[in-house]
Amino acid sequence: MSNVARVSPAPTAPVSQPEAGALFLDNVRARLHETARALELDAGLAAILATPERSLAVGVPVRMDDGRIEVFDGYRVQHSTARGPGKGGIRYHPSVTQEETAALAMLMTWKCAVVGLPYGGAKGGVRVDPRRLSRAERERLTRRYTAGIQPLIGPDRDIPAPDVNTDEQVMAWMVDTLAVRDGAAAWASVTGKPIGLGGSAGRGPATGEGVAVVALELLRRKGLDPAETTVAVQGFGKVGLAAARALAREGCRVVAISDLSGDYYAPHGLDVEAAITHVKHSNDGLLTGLRLPDGGWLPHGSLLELPVDLLVPAAMEAQITRENASRIRARMIVEGANGPTTEEADHELADRGVVIVPDILANAGGVVASHAEWVQNLQGLPWATTAVENYVAAQMREAFGDVWSLAQSRNVTLRDAAYRLAVGRTAEALALRGLFP
Ligand code: NAD
Repeated sequence: MSNVARVSPAPTAPVSQPEAGALFLDNVRARLHETARALELDAGLAAILATPERSLAVGVPVRMDDGRIEVFDGYRVQHSTARGPGKGGIRYHPSVTQEETAALAMLMTWKCAVVGLPYGGAKGGVRVDPRRLSRAERERLTRRYTAGIQPLIGPDRDIPAPDVNTDEQVMAWMVDTLAVRDGAAAWASVTGKPIGLGGSAGRGPATGEGVAVVALELLRRKGLDPAETTVAVQGFGKVGLAAARALAREGCRVVAISDLSGDYYAPHGLDVEAAITHVKHSNDGLLTGLRLPDGGWLPHGSLLELPVDLLVPAAMEAQITRENASRIRARMIVEGANGPTTEEADHELADRGVVIVPDILANAGGVVASHAEWVQNLQGLPWATTAVENYVAAQMREAFGDVWSLAQSRNVTLRDAAYRLAVGRTAEALALRGLFP
C-alpha cells in the first residue's frame, strides 16, 4: 500500500491531549470513589466500576479525495453494561483519546442510571478535525469506523448516537453500514437517525426541553413562580435554544442569551422566538446583530455573572470556574452543558447555597428521547411527537424527584445525590448479577 500517512491533527487543530484525557478520567474516577465511600460500597464493586468493561481501539484508514490514505485513531468504550446495553454518542474531535472516551463512557453509565433507563454507558470517537474533511471523506471515515466497531454494536449490545461534530447524517451512514454488512435492518442499533430512516419525532429539542422540565421542577420545589423568575441561558445551539424556548413558553422571563457572537441582555425580558427566527435567517447561524428593546450587548462571558434567579450554562464545559465563581449571582444553576462547572467552583457555589442541578440529570432528556427511538424501532411502531415529549417530561420529572428526595433526606447537594443514585443503581445491578465465573 503506497502513500500511507499516520495522521497527527491538522496544524490548525488543537493538539491531541493524552494528558487532558487521562486527567479527565482521573477526575471522574475520583468522583466515583468519593461516591462509593459515601455509599459504603463494597471495594470490589467500586473497583469494577472504576474500570471500563470493554475498550476497542481501531485504526481507521480513509482514502482522501486527493488519493492519499490517511489513518485515524478510533475508539469505542463500554464502561458498563450491568444495567443494559451500552449507550452513548460518537464524537469526531482532535481531542479524542481512549482515556477521554472512557471517562465519557463512565458519565453515560451514570446519566442512564440516574434517569432510570435500562442502559449501561458507552462512548465512541475518532481523533480527527472534521472541519478538514470533505463530505465524501466524512462518509468514508464514518463507514470504516463503523465497520471497525461493528463487533461491539447491536440493539442489545451497544447503541451509538450523535455527539460533538456528528449528526443524523452520520448516524444514517452508520446504520446503513451495519445493515449492508449484516444483511439485516439495523434501525435499533443506532439512535439520533433522520426521521425518514427510523428516527424519532421530538428527538431534536429533547435535551433542551428536559433542561426546562427539571428547572421548572426546581422552581416548584422552592415555591417560586416562573413568571417572577429571571433566566440567563449561555449558548444558543441545540440545547440552549430549546431550553430558552421552553422556559419562555412556561412563563419564565428570559433576560439574557449568548452564543459565540456575544452576550445579549434585556433586563425586562427578551423575545426568544424572535431570537430563534434571527438565528435561522442569519448568515452565520448566530445571534450576530440581534436587536434588543431595552438592553444591549455585554462583554463576552459576562452573561454568567448577571443578577438572575436561574442560570443555564448550555454551551460547553468549564465555564464556571474558580476564577469567576465568586461573581456568579444566580441562586440556581441548571447544567445544560456537560461539565460546565469545575469541581472547585462547584464547592464554592455549594458553600454559598447556590443550588445546582447537575449535568448527568439536567441534560439527560436527549438520551431519554434516544431510548424512545430505540423502543419504537424494536416495536416497529412510530410514536407521535406528543408521546415522545410526554415520555421525556415524565422521566425527567421522576428522576428529578428521586434526586431531590435523596438530597433532602441525606442533606447533600443535588450533584452528590445524583451520583449516589446512579452509582448505587449500577452497583445494585452488578451485585444482583454476581461475578462471572
Ligand atoms: P451546539 O454546538 O448546538 O451549541 C453550542 C452553542 O454554544 C452555540 O450556540 C455556540 O455559539 C455557543 N457557544 C460556544 N462557546 C460559547 C461561549 N464561550 N459563550 C457563549 N456561547 C458559546 O451544541 P449543543 O448540542 O447545544 O451542546 C451544548 C452542550 O450541551 C455541550 O456541552 C454538549 O456536550 C451538551 N449536551 C448536548 C446534548 C444534545 O442533545 N445536543 C445532550 C447532552 C449534553
